[in-house]
Parts: sequence; structure tokens; C-alpha cells
Amino acid sequence: MKTKLKPGFNYIFGPVPSRRLGLSLGVDLMPHKTCSLNCVYCECGKTTHLTIKRKDYTPFDQIRKELDTVLSSRPRMDFLTFSGSGEPTLHSSIGEIIQYMKTDYPEYAVAVLTNGTMFHLPEVRKAVLQADVVIASFDAASDHVFQTINRPHPDLELHEMVKGLAALRKEFSNQLWMEIFIVPGHNDDQHEMEQIQRVMDIIKPYQIHINSLDRPGTEDWVKPVTPEVLKSIQACMHNVRTLNHSKHTVLPDVFSGDLMDLILSTVKRRPCTVEDILEITGADHNKINQHLDILLKNGEVVKKQMPRGTFFFRKQ
Ligand code: SF4
Repeated sequence: MKTKLKPGFNYIFGPVPSRRLGLSLGVDLMPHKTCSLNCVYCECGKTTHLTIKRKDYTPFDQIRKELDTVLSSRPRMDFLTFSGSGEPTLHSSIGEIIQYMKTDYPEYAVAVLTNGTMFHLPEVRKAVLQADVVIASFDAASDHVFQTINRPHPDLELHEMVKGLAALRKEFSNQLWMEIFIVPGHNDDQHEMEQIQRVMDIIKPYQIHINSLDRPGTEDWVKPVTPEVLKSIQACMHNVRTLNHSKHTVLPDVFSGDLMDLILSTVKRRPCTVEDILEITGADHNKINQHLDILLKNGEVVKKQMPRGTFFFRKQ
């Protein structure tokens, strides 16, 4: 069934075809760019509001209204995924929103993409217990690497973060996956990898994923990982899975709303190539190029050449 994602949606975007989650509808609870970290590789740009304050950054009622508009016709979808412009566990109603999804739309699985910095708080762990999957990033086991790659809020402590993730693993009966983003020259040496493995042995996540730069990040000096480095990382870690960005599968056109709006709402949260947009929208290649030309001329997006192609993303 086709569902229209009409112009004017503020908190949901996509759906995005995800290699880990299937067809995933993005739910973005945070104003751009509100986060407890300011990662050098962030695809959403520099953190402009570095905070650990939890509050209702966006109104629950309006998020619920947008979810109802899209989901009441029960479109084909695998996951409802909290992701987007910042750290979703900073939103103090995330638990209520997950509960609403699981009560009113139980046929969809719920995933939370998080930086894992807030799980030292029991109320944050409790808030995500009804999710089906929590994917937490963890890029550094040493304080100096944490400071260099993740540039955390000054009140965050790495050892508290590890304790919080380990506590979540014990309390959470669904799947905790961990994602390690490799920044060559900073967290890819044997010592740091062994330290990260030690932390993984404490947390015992269900899966561990290795990721590296594929889209334009915040800092130009961050480079993709080479196949040789990847091999050595796999050799010193157990049970890791590498995220493969190279293959594209064109998915059926699930949403057929205003194409310009759909392109803009997607690239403002995540840099995309024309092929990525084609996957998401199922639209004609030429039409996508025409719309991107207009957005480039208006100055609403910029482009950058990367090994995988030309990426379009929001102007910082
Ligand atoms: S990558 Fe995630 S955790 Fe890091 S700054 Fe961006 S939104 Fe925040």
C-alpha cells in the first residue's frame, strides 16, 4: 500500500532502506544539532547545543499526530527508528513515545540509535526497555581518544558510560548492539582495539558492528578506513560485523509524497548520493537530479565528492 508522506512533516522522515533494519521510518526527536557529544565524524554537522540536560525538546502530541498520519494505514515497514539530528535519549518523553508505538502499532519493531552516554541514569535505561533493538555507539576506551573523537559534554565520564551500558545489558531483555566507528590514526591501533574489546567483554552486546567514514563527516581530516586496517581490527576483536556501504538495492516506492520535500527532509539529516535518494524514493533518476539542482541553486544543500560518489547534504 502506498502512503503519502506529505510536505510539512517535522519529526518523521524516510522510510530509509537500512542494511541492518530493513525498511525503517526515521523518528527525529531532537532539534538540530542537540547532542551530548560532538563527534568528528558526525553526518549531521557540528553540535551547536552540547548538553546533557533531559527535557521535552519537541512536543509529544505533534510527534504522535505525525506517527498516526503515516502509520494508521499500516504501510509496509520493518522498524520505527529513533535517529536524526541529535541524541534521542535526551528527550525526556522517549519512553512514553516508545510505549505509544508498541501499544498502537505493535506490528512494527522499534530501534533506538543512541550514543550511549545517558544510560548511567536509571530512568534512561527504563525508558528504552520496550524497544526491540538499541544500537549504541562506542568508539573509545581511553579518555584521550574519547575526547579527540567524541568531544563529549564536560560533565560526561567514560567509565560512567561503560557502567551504564553494562547495566542496560543486564536490564534489557531485547537486543543491544554496539557500533564502533573507526577513525584512522586515533582508535585503530592494537592497544585501543584491545581496550575496546575488553569493554565489549564487560558489556556483552548481542552484536558488534564496525563502521567507518562513508559520507561527509563534520571534520575534513576524518578519512575512511583502509581494507588492511579493517582486517587487522577484525583480527584483534571477536564477533564483529563490518557494515558494507557498497551495494544498493532499489526498494519499492512505499511513500510517494512531495519529492522535493522528501529529498530535503532526508539530506538534512544524512548526506546522500543520488543513488541513496533513488533507494529511498524510488523516483526517476533525472527527476532527482533536477530537484537537487534547484536545491543547490537555492543554497539549501551543498555537495561533496567522496570515494562512493557525490554526496548532497544540508548547508552548515
Ligand atoms: S554522531 Fe551521533 S552522538 Fe556523535 S555528535 Fe552526531 S548525533 Fe551526536
